[in-house]
This record gives sequence, structure tokens and C-alpha cells, in this order.
Amino acid sequence: MAEISKYLSDFSHLAFPFNCLGCDNTLDENEQSICDHCKESLPQTRYWEYPDNQVAKLFWGKIPLTFASSYLFFIKDGLVQQLMHQLKYNGKKEVGAILGQLFGRVLKDGHFTDVDVVVPVPLHADKLKKRGFNQCDFIAAALARELDKSYNNRVVQRLRANETQTKKGRYERWINVKELFRVTEPQFVIGKHVLLIDDVVTTGSTLEACADAILQVQDTKVSVATLACPSPY
Ligand SMILES: [Zn+2]
Repeated sequence: MAEISKYLSDFSHLAFPFNCLGCDNTLDENEQSICDHCKESLPQTRYWEYPDNQVAKLFWGKIPLTFASSYLFFIKDGLVQQLMHQLKYNGKKEVGAILGQLFGRVLKDGHFTDVDVVVPVPLHADKLKKRGFNQCDFIAAALARELDKSYNNRVVQRLRANETQTKKGRYERWINVKELFRVTEPQFVIGKHVLLIDDVVTTGSTLEACADAILQVQDTKVSVATLACPSPY
């Protein structure tokens, strides 16, 4: 009997060869989607331990955030880029869920504990329809569960798809993101500390616009957390 079950389990493994979404090596039976080695190799920023970190500085003089942090360094052709690609373009939602949970685990005892509600940066309706899902939903939901906070993806609406910003000047960028978001269900955030979640932060202009919309609601505080940010090295 033991041999049969061994055969079956080996066979099922052959029939469904699951490989790590980070390094493409075959997963062990107790590993799911991302292997233990990749999880241990994730380049953590540790920014959540330092309120004056590089991500927080992106928003200085622009918008009064309570805290800002990112979980991982995004390096060209690196592990994090590979995982983010799997999440965003290959529909591997479990990557968002796993990394969101791991991020929540390290945030548990830190500055983010007085957050009330976790809110993902929304996609524009057209883009959501095209992609079929918002990658930030999975990150935010898993992080909220790990922090034991409520989660709400209906608070903010994105009014336009964001145009490419790379060749625009600072003023044009500002006009571009101005009134990009609207809070459609303010009752969920009045008097609350909102933790806004995005997958990657680069210039911070999209998060700034979204945080600005939320801060227009009475007695709100906003913190920001993203899965990844560019490595300063
Ligand atoms: Zn791996």
C-alpha cells in the first residue's frame, strides 16, 4: 500500500509539475507557488523600522502621510521583478497573496498597528475589465488579514487610466494625476487611519493623488505601503 500511495503521489507530481514562480525549480510537496529558498532570498528593505526612509521621503513636502514603507527592493532582472511579472501579467494572483501575507507578518509589531482599514489603489474600470483583476487587491487583502484589520476595495474610484509619465515634466505630471481618484464611499474612511496599498512605487505620484483624495475626507490619516520600490544601490 505504501508503494502505491508513493507511486500515486509521484505520479500526481509528474502530471502536475509545479514549479516555483520565482526561480522555476520544482517545488517540494510542502511548498506552494514560491519555494522556501526564494522566500528567504527576498531583498527586504527593512524600511518599516525607519519612519524617515527613502519611500517616505518621496512624499515629503507634497502630502502629509503618517507612515510610508515598501517591503522589497525591485532590481532589474531580479527575483522581485520576476514575481511581480508573474502577478501582473501572468495572472498569478497567489504571488500577491503570499507576498502580502509575508509583508503583513513583518509589519505586525511596528508603526502600522494603529491602521484601521487597508485599501488597495484601484485600477481604472477599463483596465480592470481588460486584465480581469487588480493585482493590488490580493496584496491588500492578504496584508489586512495578517494584520487583523478590515479591508475595503470600494472606497476609492479611479477616474482615468494613468497616462505614461516618463516624458512629462513635473507640472504636467501633477496635472496628469490631479483628480485622478475620487472617494465614492467616504463612510468607510471617516475618522479612520487608512493604509493604502500599491504593488510598486517609483515617483509616488499615483499614490500621492490617491492619498490626497482620501485625506479630503473628514478626520482621515493615510499611510502607504507597497510590495516593492527601486533599490537605491
Ligand atoms: Zn524559487
